[in-house]
Amino acid sequence: MELPDLCQEFQGRVALVTGGSRGIGRACVERLAAGGAHVAVNYRENLNAAAETVEYVCESGGRAFAIQADVTDETQVRNMIDRIETELGPVDLLVNNAGIFPFVSHEDTTLEIWNATLACNLTGVFLTTWAVKDGMIERGFGRIVNLASISALRARPQSIAYATTKAGVVGFTKSTAEALAPHNVRMNAVAPGLIETDILDGVPQEKLDELVAATPLRRIGRPDDISEVVRFLLSEDSRFMTGQTIVASGGRVMLP
Ligand code: NDP
Repeated sequence: MELPDLCQEFQGRVALVTGGSRGIGRACVERLAAGGAHVAVNYRENLNAAAETVEYVCESGGRAFAIQADVTDETQVRNMIDRIETELGPVDLLVNNAGIFPFVSHEDTTLEIWNATLACNLTGVFLTTWAVKDGMIERGFGRIVNLASISALRARPQSIAYATTKAGVVGFTKSTAEALAPHNVRMNAVAPGLIETDILDGVPQEKLDELVAATPLRRIGRPDDISEVVRFLLSEDSRFMTGQTIVASGGRVMLP
């Protein structure tokens, strides 16, 4: 099978997609590889999914490499970046995508759930960015995209910890983007609406139907609906943008 686009806009670049083994991350890996990047596919525990993604990319004529690390662990993140630098070269393009989504009521939002969600969705973004930013500054080039969510912009009573982390990602993106802008390191975020991936496994079907009905474009999103926005933000098509969060939600947040 052919990769969808071989225009090679990322030729010579090294990319890292955290949580690149499945879902939106996998779509980003495929898109970056189709553009010519050599992509490090990070995963936490599901080696089979990572291996399958890498195999698909390589069989399609792209270049990818699986690398395990838990983004909540500073040492593992540091070791991952060191290994990518040794094997592929320094990271030019980073997609902070790894995330977890506990769908729980306020009664069930324990400190354990709160801490785990912050550790992955927010601290993981910080740790991975901090592990690559000095090299990007030294080389005078870096492009970073963070996965936020429309949960950052709306009340989400059944995912309080999650929505808090995603609002944090929007704030992190603005402040870090301004700090890094003088070094030609751009950072932007994407805020997806509902996208069909394993992350929605805990959400009841009636809730999903309700959300689709409230979506002006009347469908659930696909991972490639988001990877196209990520591609844009990593490419020079977005050269005058930094610190922005682009909503890709089938129109959901334009409504009051
Ligand atoms: P999936 O559940 O499909 O995939 C999650 C990926 O993240 C997997 O590759 C998983 O690795 C990895 N991962 C999870 N925890 C860690 C960790 N601690 N360290 C390293 N990797 C980790 O998620 P989606 O593709 O749906 O979501 C991707 C991003 O998009 C998330 O940030 C999510 O919040 C955001 N998003 C998703 C939406 C949706 O509706 N799907 C909507 C809005 C935002 P492994 O396979 O090893 O477990």
